[in-house]
Amino acid sequence: MYDAAYAVKKEWVGNVDYYRGLLEFSNRCIKNCRYCGIRRGNKQVERFDTPREDILAMARWCYEQKYGSVTLQSGERQDAAFIDYVEGLLRDVKAIGNGALGITLCVGEQTKETYQRWYNAGAHRYLLRIESSNPKLYATLHPQDGNHKWKVRKACLDTLAEIGYQVGTGVMIGLPGQTLDDLAEDVLFYKKQNIAMIGMGPYVVHHNTPLGKKVREAGVDTPAARAERLRLSINMVAVTRLFLKDVNIAATTAMQTLHPLGREMALKAGANILMPLVTLPQFRSQYQLYDNKPCLEEGQEQCRDCLSSRVASVGDTVGWGQWGDSPHFFNNLK
Ligand code: SAH
Ligand code: SF4
Repeated sequence: MYDAAYAVKKEWVGNVDYYRGLLEFSNRCIKNCRYCGIRRGNKQVERFDTPREDILAMARWCYEQKYGSVTLQSGERQDAAFIDYVEGLLRDVKAIGNGALGITLCVGEQTKETYQRWYNAGAHRYLLRIESSNPKLYATLHPQDGNHKWKVRKACLDTLAEIGYQVGTGVMIGLPGQTLDDLAEDVLFYKKQNIAMIGMGPYVVHHNTPLGKKVREAGVDTPAARAERLRLSINMVAVTRLFLKDVNIAATTAMQTLHPLGREMALKAGANILMPLVTLPQFRSQYQLYDNKPCLEEGQEQCRDCLSSRVASVGDTVGWGQWGDSPHFFNNLK
């Protein structure tokens, strides 16, 4: 199956992998997702905001390294100050090299007006994982406080597409209570939503979260269980490539958390996007969505060199200096 998926990747998107420099610029979050290490309720986390000039310096570094694109990610905030801040930041990132950098945003659920403002300011791709296409499973992963609704998340995906963003989504794999049918439905959901980019990966325990504690207490976070979550994740990459063909699929960091070669496995099974960390090293330990996130000690240069050798090791090349947009998005417009 992996070989077949790799052949489809080669035919439809080429064996060229694209980089998006991943800048995790703040861990402040109004949400309380039960799986996530930077949820509002985790009082053990020191909160940080990367100074604006540092974000811009890192984005400029990505441009100089010919990364082609950056992804700006943070916890979720919906206040006016944050919306204005992101808008200004986008304009400044866009100005680097006169619009040379592709920009993906990943900062959660927002109103249509906000998404539109950010689109106008220069973001053209948006990542918002549906986490699970099964609303019942979604409900078990989030507090029932009216602020974590599956329907709202789904509506956000529709709005983003309406505005003209290239929309990315994805799910966590190996969640407690998740079935193979759920995973099959997830792939069908990508198809139904006409999704251009997929970012998915294994669920990984964070020790100080309600879900992480439950999983640990139930004794189901064994090495064998983690290996199974990784295997399912790589299988999901392969199946998604075989089924959707011309989309972008990320080899995500969570895959590497469960196996040192997790991302290579994903590239060989059809993934074509890598997101080298360019988060400032001093903030990496405070942006731990899950335990054992790799690369905490590395600097951005090491992440670049390490990933390039990973790409070469599977026989692919890097699409330096290119946005690497999803062909699906444009094939759709034809
Ligand atoms: N706040 C934004 C972006 C940051 S979180 C948002 O939620 O969209 C980005 C992704 O990290 C989430 O969509 C989720 O799928 C993933 N994530 C969070 N906790 C995780 C965990 N314990 N294991 C695996 N992935 C996790
Ligand atoms: Fe916040 Fe995103 Fe983590 Fe949910 S997954 S708690 S929205 S950072």
